[in-house]
Amino acid sequence: MSVSLAVLGLATVLQALIFAASGSIALLADLIHNGGDALTAVPLGIAFMLRSKRAEGYAGLAVVAAIFISAAVAAVEAIDRLLNPTTPTDLWALALAGLIGYVGNWIAAKVRSRAGKRLNSPALIADGDHARSDAYVSLSVILSAVVVALGAPIADPLIGLAITVVILRITLQSWRTVRGG
Ligand SMILES: [Zn+2]
Repeated sequence: MSVSLAVLGLATVLQALIFAASGSIALLADLIHNGGDALTAVPLGIAFMLRSKRAEGYAGLAVVAAIFISAAVAAVEAIDRLLNPTTPTDLWALALAGLIGYVGNWIAAKVRSRAGKRLNSPALIADGDHARSDAYVSLSVILSAVVVALGAPIADPLIGLAITVVILRITLQSWRTVRGG
């Protein structure tokens, strides 16, 4: 657990630094999401230390709530950027940020899936599947850098919104898993 927390935390910090330079909304959506995911490792970790099914259930709900709030923040920022357009800069760094998100989530997915199978925890296995989806979400940040470079800066908040929709969909899946498990 602590490994996936550290990896996602580091990816988020690097993405936040690049966001400060670039101002990309697609990156903001991705980093808010990755940061939220990194934090979700905390309540789940506590539940496992307590070895309590009920604590795991509460932790699962906390996870779903955290992802939902992160999606709402990302949506508000994306809509604000559609109304007040600006062009992201530092596009090579932006593409690198997408790659960092991809690698970070890919590692987190491996760690969580393996631990989930070992501990026979549906919540952890779901978390692994989630991180794997997120790896592909981060690739869309690279797409945003490419399209903006081609001369269509509007693509950036649109991809930010699309990322938000994907986050909401993942939230719904996590919610079902938590309730079903
Ligand atoms: Zn996620």
